Amino acid sequence: MPERIDYAAELGQLLCRNLITRHLHGGRTQVDPVISYWLFTGSRNSDGYGQITAKKNSDRGFPNRRPTAFLLHIVSFVADRGHGVPNDQQVSHLCDRRNCFNPNHLLAESVQANNSRKGCPGPLFCPDHGHKIASLCKHAPTKCIRPPNPDVICCLSIKHSHPDFGRATESLAPSTPDRPTPRHVSEQVGAAPTGLAAAIEQATEIPDSEEEGW
Ligand SMILES: [Zn+2]
Ligand SMILES: [Zn+2]
Ligand SMILES: [Zn+2]
Repeated sequence: MPERIDYAAELGQLLCRNLITRHLHGGRTQVDPVISYWLFTGSRNSDGYGQITAKKNSDRGFPNRRPTAFLLHIVSFVADRGHGVPNDQQVSHLCDRRNCFNPNHLLAESVQANNSRKGCPGPLFCPDHGHKIASLCKHAPTKCIRPPNPDVICCLSIKHSHPDFGRATESLAPSTPDRPTPRHVSEQVGAAPTGLAAAIEQATEIPDSEEEGW
């Protein structure tokens, strides 16, 4: 196991914040409007975590020392929380996406707790209306963040999609007025941006990534 880097000491919160702002708006991050994933499409390590390079504070003043690889989600954690990760803990991705670096999706917790989130179905949301149908996530107090499952349907959706229920079938069109916009769904599914995330999202326009296939 490689030696654990003290991100707070080697980078500091201010540089971490600058790095996160730069990478969020640097054209290599896909921001999801529903779940608020910040998915880094740049360099990743062999485990799939986004990584960037920067010079460690302890290497400054040594021109022959090369920059070090840092995991982007931990940089984001330090940028948001202002402290490093406790020695007996790991940074969990509540959203289950290793290349996501939205600090609202990150939580420092025990290795066991982190591992137990793998395969958690999370709360189940109705993909048509956004309301919660069941809470299959038993993680407390911080629930896992999962996208709406297209296989989950509520009784209203059945009514609308089955011809047997009569003339309501045309309301399946996405433009149906009672169908919420993705932004509406995000209020119920994803974590609302707070703290650093809100500040960064509001500070700069999110680059239009239309041409990248979104
Ligand atoms: Zn995430
Ligand atoms: Zn529904
Ligand atoms: Zn869970």
